[in-house]
Amino acid sequence: MGRITLDQVTKSFGEVNVIPPLDLTIEDGEFVVFVGPSGCGKSTLLRLIAGLEDVSSGQIRIDGEDATDKRPADRGLAMVFQSYALYPHMSVRKNIAFPMKMAGVPEDEQKRRIDGAAAALNLTDYLDRRPGQLSGGQRQRVAIGRAIVREPQAFLFDEPLSNLDAALRVGMRLEISELHKRLATTMIYVTHDQVEAMTMADKIVVLRAGYIEQVGTPLELYRTPRNRFVAGFIGSPR
Ligand code: ADP
Ligand code: MG
Repeated sequence: MGRITLDQVTKSFGEVNVIPPLDLTIEDGEFVVFVGPSGCGKSTLLRLIAGLEDVSSGQIRIDGEDATDKRPADRGLAMVFQSYALYPHMSVRKNIAFPMKMAGVPEDEQKRRIDGAAAALNLTDYLDRRPGQLSGGQRQRVAIGRAIVREPQAFLFDEPLSNLDAALRVGMRLEISELHKRLATTMIYVTHDQVEAMTMADKIVVLRAGYIEQVGTPLELYRTPRNRFVAGFIGSPR
């Protein structure tokens, strides 16, 4: 299950074409990282997959079904933003419960999933606090917790660690990798940080001006970058 396929997907904003026709397959359970310079279309691509933007043309298939016209909530994906997007007036528990409440998940099932997510993310002692009483790393964990309880087919992360300081980023990287191993769920992860890409990815997609410059494992891209652009991004000696 769970394969995500983009078939000749394009996106224009008015006259400006941001994504030229793009083909991409993401296998079930893969940790895929999109890298590329600022403005190259990483977030746009993620938002197209999430359904937060409509494609201009082309098709997106999720788990064998045409998802191109599906609403975000019906795609079975969960997005984690850099800005956390938590509700400041709600406790951690309520923040995490919110998407389940919207989806009509029964209360006892909500509690089971919240306890599971809190244990996985080291948040058990913080469930009654509000976001304002948490550190940046803890807030990011709450945002991830809110994604986990939806039990999505895939997690979409848009530069989730870029607001954290360097030391915390290292720890959170490990936590997200650990979570990927534990859940065995597809993760699509946008970053401009090459260390993140090289250490976390099963597969790296190098983007440039909306098109795919090269796709490969970290080792493949390091050993055989197609050109200087890719080499520059991967930190390869070529
Ligand atoms: P990245 O995440 O790689 O930094 P984005 O996907 O945010 O890049 O943006 C890619 C390009 O699309 C940029 O030139 C940006 O200005 C443009 N863009 C993104 N969203 C919109 C929008 N809603 N309207 C117009 N242009 C947009
Ligand atoms: Mg972006």
